[in-house]
Amino acid sequence: MTGTGSFELQPLNSFGVSARAERLITISDRQQLSQLHFRPQRDLILGGGSNLLLAADLKGTVFQVRLAGRELMRESDRSTRVTLGAGENWHAVVRWTLAQGLSGLENLSLIPGLVGAAPIQNIGAYGVELAESLLEVHVWDWQARRQRTLDRDACAFGYRDSRFKSAEPGRFLITALTLRLQHHFTPRLDYAGLAQALQETSKNPQAPSALEVSDAVIRLRREKLPDPAQLGNAGSFFKNPVLDAARAEALAAQHPELPLYASQHGRFKVSAAWLIERCGWKGFREGDAGVSAQHALVLVNYGRASGAELAQLAARIRADVWQTFAIELEPEPRILPPLPALA
Ligand SMILES: Cc1cc2nc3c(=O)[nH]c(=O)nc-3n(C[C@H](O)[C@H](O)[C@H](O)COP(=O)(O)OP(=O)(O)OC[C@H]3O[C@@H](n4cnc5c(N)ncnc54)[C@H](O)[C@@H]3O)c2cc1C
Repeated sequence: MTGTGSFELQPLNSFGVSARAERLITISDRQQLSQLHFRPQRDLILGGGSNLLLAADLKGTVFQVRLAGRELMRESDRSTRVTLGAGENWHAVVRWTLAQGLSGLENLSLIPGLVGAAPIQNIGAYGVELAESLLEVHVWDWQARRQRTLDRDACAFGYRDSRFKSAEPGRFLITALTLRLQHHFTPRLDYAGLAQALQETSKNPQAPSALEVSDAVIRLRREKLPDPAQLGNAGSFFKNPVLDAARAEALAAQHPELPLYASQHGRFKVSAAWLIERCGWKGFREGDAGVSAQHALVLVNYGRASGAELAQLAARIRADVWQTFAIELEPEPRILPPLPALA
């Protein structure tokens, strides 16, 4: 499908903000790709629009990815390779893999969006990241103008980060993923709230089933996060800053109640929600742009906020946290155009 002229993107982004694009092309067949040209400065690849803030109209084309496909290939008694088209709904495939008796994705239940966007920020929740199950990312390389397969190491995954997001944004269109999922379930309950939720719901909380873990994650997420269908949002708006040990210790000495979590390479993750709340933004509202009263990390559109108003609010929060703590908050969603650098 191709739409030309001025195309309204409001129904296609979870903030529900109005923005127009010049053209919309729906990609439902890989063969289309060799006929298309992508201009990274003007065009946008769109999945479910749940990690995106459109702060202005787009001067180019939106490529809406709708590539379908679910394939299973048993590798051994222990695992199965699962290949998923980029246009599949993430949560629907998580539940489908569980129904096939495969585990590995249960902690990532109910994350909005499509399969193709999952590697972009290496989606993560409840102590698990996509990269742990991922074997290969199948892409269309706009530079080389051919299909390629990248193994996990080639994707440079990090905390809410990847080669696709940081090093080479706009070079690839992800067409499919191959994951390795397990036949025997080992629960991942490092996240305290999850183990606690299972105490209430699981028949055997010490050894819950993968489906029980998925159900508990769904319940926790519904309690905590606003549903974009009711209240426009893009989930957590800022990443948790990662600091070196000396900086984290100095901060903890000044603010003993600051939540700090050990991260990789001797570094520490700081709760961005705590920093924002401490600066007084939790529950803030100006017009229809605001910060959730339940969760300081979630920016919300109460109705008719524009993308520009939400981006301005994000910039104010970032500047305030910078002035108060000398910590730079990095937005998690893609913002178009990006926020200006901190002064
Ligand atoms: C209520 C809520 C809760 C959330 N919770 C979490 C969470 O727990 N953990 C988490 O990690 N995220 C979370 N998110 C963020 C979001 O759901 C994920 O980042 C998701 O992977 C985005 O998918 P999408 O299809 O909507 O991507 P989009 O918003 O459409 O796109 C996001 C980025 O990926 C690019 N992109 C999309 N598809 C492709 C493709 N096929 N090829 C190349 N580039 C592509 C886009 O150009 C854009 O830069 C949450 C969002 C909401 C609204």
